[in-house]
Amino acid sequence: MDCLFCKIIDREIPADIVYEDDAVLAFNDINPQAPSHLLIVPKLHIATLNDIEEGDLALVGRLQYTAARLAAEKGFAEAGYRVVMNCNDQGGQTVYHIHMHLMGGRRFTWPAG
Ligand code: AMP
Ligand code: ZN
Repeated sequence: MDCLFCKIIDREIPADIVYEDDAVLAFNDINPQAPSHLLIVPKLHIATLNDIEEGDLALVGRLQYTAARLAAEKGFAEAGYRVVMNCNDQGGQTVYHIHMHLMGGRRFTWPAG
């Protein structure tokens, strides 16, 4: 499948991997928007949030749980952080394999920036 994140999962393309288990991979974003910017992806290819099915709910929970665990490991869980999932064109999605952005190490404003 011609999917960038599947290729990273399969080690066909290198990435700065920080966490892996049987269902999830996390690596540093190549274009970080914060001092720490990780992408947390399921090993299962799901193109967008719209394609999540009921059978995937535990997996999506794993993404969130992994984000919180990595935030703690990186040392910014208490200070705070932001997680983002973009969906489709207007949502700013550019890689069509669902992923959670985990950003920490600076203050975020809402709704912009
Ligand atoms: P999104 O725009 O929500 O689909 O997020 C895609 C993210 O993937 C962007 O933040 C990109 O900087 C990041 N990205 C693209 N290519 C790579 C890569 N080869 N390794 C790590 N991150 C990447
Ligand atoms: Zn994929």
